[in-house]
Amino acid sequence: MRKADTHTRDPTLWNLYAVTDSGAEAYLNFMKKHRCYDAIPTSCKLVIFDTALQVQIYELEDHKIQTWRDVYLQIYTQSLISISPEASLFDAVYSLLKHKIHRLPVIDPETGNVLHILTHKRILKFLYIFRDTIPRPHFLQRKIAEAGVGTFRDIATIQQTATVYDALSLFVERRVSALPVVDEKGKVVALYSRFDVINLAAQKTYNNLSMSMMQALRRRRCFVEGVIKCYPDETLETAVDRIAQAEVHRLVLVDRGDDTVRGIISLSDLLQAMILSPAGIDALLA
Ligand code: AMP
Repeated sequence: MRKADTHTRDPTLWNLYAVTDSGAEAYLNFMKKHRCYDAIPTSCKLVIFDTALQVQIYELEDHKIQTWRDVYLQIYTQSLISISPEASLFDAVYSLLKHKIHRLPVIDPETGNVLHILTHKRILKFLYIFRDTIPRPHFLQRKIAEAGVGTFRDIATIQQTATVYDALSLFVERRVSALPVVDEKGKVVALYSRFDVINLAAQKTYNNLSMSMMQALRRRRCFVEGVIKCYPDETLETAVDRIAQAEVHRLVLVDRGDDTVRGIISLSDLLQAMILSPAGIDALLA
């Protein structure tokens, strides 16, 4: 099923907010005024791989990054999506959401040098640093249940007793970036993200995909984005504060009574609502 079928946001509703909420354009204007270059931290690390570098993993060590790229490019013809440091942060948000990507290389057009990799998290953090200098749009006071920001139907979840193979299949079939892990009653107990798959390589357990989710979650050592929850009666402002402070990519919306999964609010949903919707653009539905 395509993403557009599962999404419940009503673009008409958002255009209405933009017209009726005088402060709705504050974040949009801030993003249009600032360049990608401005959001690059003063000091940060960027690791560049040589395509001739060998992939140092048992059984895969004969492969070079170039070999993987060639295989990948046979399936996906899309070329690298990047942005100039002079482009606005508004353009960066649009590009991340429109192309449904999580990393956007900032490349100097003259030298071809990669200056930084922009993410939704970095962009929100930049906005968050300046939040007290920008008027807060009124729509942030709306309750999550009413605002329609996020995905509330047909959420892809995984049982804690299911296998890692099942999780990988869901990532491929549903094209989602994370799966709330649930118990037999549907209560959320953890989050398994595409990024966690790195653990399979780091621990050389990628040929033991019959391992249960519970085992995989216990064994993960690389950075873990814990499951951070939010509730339908909380405001969008609370959701933005929580996601920014926890430095995570998504919140799992759960029922206050029993912690069962009701939805997902990801940074894509929040950036869409705060920056693109006031401009009358719906990149997530495109
Ligand atoms: P993301 O790639 O996490 O930024 O999310 C892109 C879109 O997919 C957003 O509209 C999310 O609400 C939605 N989404 C993320 N994870 C899931 C999931 N497990 N099930 C259904 N939709 C999801």
